[in-house]
Amino acid sequence: MVLVALFALFSYNGFGAENVAQGVKVVVIDAGHGGSRFPGAGYNGFAEKNINLQVALKLGALIEKNLPDVKVVYTRTTDKMFSSVLSEDLQARADIAHRNSGDLFISIHANAHRNSEVRGVETLIMGETSMEQRVNQNALYINNKEELLDMSDQKTATIVRAYIQNLQFTYGEYSEMMARLVQEEYVKLGYNNRGVRRQPLKVLYATDMPSILTEIGFMSNPADLKHITSEKGQKEIAGAIFRAVKRYVENVNRALLIDGGAAPAPAVKPQQPKVQEKEQAQPKQKPQTTVKRYAIQLMASVKKIPTDHPELKSYRGKVWVLESGSTLKYKYCYGDFADKAVAQTQIEAVRKEFPQAFIITYDK
Ligand SMILES: [Zn+2]
Repeated sequence: MVLVALFALFSYNGFGAENVAQGVKVVVIDAGHGGSRFPGAGYNGFAEKNINLQVALKLGALIEKNLPDVKVVYTRTTDKMFSSVLSEDLQARADIAHRNSGDLFISIHANAHRNSEVRGVETLIMGETSMEQRVNQNALYINNKEELLDMSDQKTATIVRAYIQNLQFTYGEYSEMMARLVQEEYVKLGYNNRGVRRQPLKVLYATDMPSILTEIGFMSNPADLKHITSEKGQKEIAGAIFRAVKRYVENVNRALLIDGGAAPAPAVKPQQPKVQEKEQAQPKQKPQTTVKRYAIQLMASVKKIPTDHPELKSYRGKVWVLESGSTLKYKYCYGDFADKAVAQTQIEAVRKEFPQAFIITYDK
């Protein structure tokens, strides 16, 4: 019974890869915070909720104008909250994304830090930071502690970790690609790059599609604040995120060409269970006799293609195929490394041709 419940959750997330296999038709833009209860950070009379909304609307307008095949859905276009309870407010945003069959979820936020000299941009994806980082962040960050899943709670942590592990085999790679593209576009503008970070964020956990949360600058830093509250700065930021969306859409569509069509739709699409409902679930134990190895996954497809397919570019004939249970069943992998650090030395070269490439682990 317990395992069945967990399997149902995993199957659903597997079907979530449908969001990728059907291309990018709907982009959901979420302006973080809102309403009287959730203004977000506040500095010099500026409220984060308003900055987020202004950038969200500018981003949406750019997509509507330049990517006519992509529909834009906003979680909010006005200063509003969805519930006076934070977890319900965040869930409502995810529900909007699901109701509208979102293919990509972009949440826009501004950062705050106790040290006013800290500045720059970072993009968050669902995942777990190390205990050390968590303790650090809790001490330093002011505004987003409540938006994180409570990983100090053993039951929650077990379920969330199993979920994160599963993400790696569904569309987690797509969230990571999108996050990296956003950061790359920021870097081109000369912004201080704080990188792609993994955090167990409630709003990303609730969203069953590739999803990112981008922090467009620090309100606690005077220069950043000036930039993110100015018309010019907001246009620039929205432009950067837009160019990342465009590149993301192109990358996903290119993978689709290989897949030769959409994935079969699941017969039943159960609700994404909330953490409390998953409490009885136990993670599957990994067999202890296997050896963990590392490889670089270039891409994935619904239908199997030969390993010398032209889409594999200069990696033709150099990849091997890993079969998985997700919709994008066939993973095209390069290398076989005993050490993650060694795989890390190769990934930048691979990403020149395959921006979505990432390191996977598998048992041998
Ligand atoms: Zn925020």
